[in-house]
Amino acid sequence: MAIYEPKTTMPAHPDLAREQITALQTHGSKQTRLALLSDSQPALTNPLLTCLICIHPYHAANVEGNIETPVMTACGHIFGNKCIKQWLEQDNGGSGKTCPMCRFELKYRECGCVIKAVPAFGTSPSPYLVNSDPSPKKSLTIHTDPTPPPRITASEIPLRCCRCEIRRVVSAEKERYDDLLFELYDDRAALMERISALKELAAHEVDGEETLLTQTQMQETRVQNQEALRLAEKELDGVDKEIEVAQELRDGLEVEKTKKMEELKARSGWFL
Ligand SMILES: [Zn+2]
Ligand SMILES: [Zn+2]
Ligand SMILES: [Zn+2]
Repeated sequence: MAIYEPKTTMPAHPDLAREQITALQTHGSKQTRLALLSDSQPALTNPLLTCLICIHPYHAANVEGNIETPVMTACGHIFGNKCIKQWLEQDNGGSGKTCPMCRFELKYRECGCVIKAVPAFGTSPSPYLVNSDPSPKKSLTIHTDPTPPPRITASEIPLRCCRCEIRRVVSAEKERYDDLLFELYDDRAALMERISALKELAAHEVDGEETLLTQTQMQETRVQNQEALRLAEKELDGVDKEIEVAQELRDGLEVEKTKKMEELKARSGWFL
């Protein structure tokens, strides 16, 4: 019977605890495991194995009990997901939102939102199974991370993130509808005034106070007024319909915004 012989010998990692090595082997990506097998660099200075912000290897709990996974910034540097998130959220004395390694500005030029880091490696070696359906059937989905997009240069950074852009467009559209509605309500008020004037005129005529006109002239005026009233009422109907449509479109913008924001959640890449 052949004796089991491991194909590769793990180099000694004096700077890592046994559990840390096991965690890196078990949960690490192909790149992480390859880095673990090479002893060219101490593990605690190797960004493929260790978060260089907290100097703690990935996939094993650090002193605060946090387990980090490696993520990549748009400038191509790799850190622990929690540390870089926290770093980019705080001010750091004016150096916030820059890469701790190369000082690349990880923010949009105009809105100033952070360009978030993405999972550093494409597919994990043992794609983890996640129960995506709470029903008893328990359908299991294999989750693999998408390969990070290519690094970017400062000139490629858009003015605004997608979220701010959506908000901007929606609020401009809302303003446009508000202006339109304002005009329509103005038109409506003018029409109402005209209609009530015409109605008053008609009532006046019925009183028979228009003594200077002949019967024929009175009849003609009455017909003209009725026609004017009919047109004004028709116009009012039209304006009311326009108001209804504009109001509906304005209300729909909020739904549209929510939908677009949801779509963003499903997207991956630097610019979201
Ligand atoms: Zn860290
Ligand atoms: Zn960097
Ligand atoms: Zn933004």
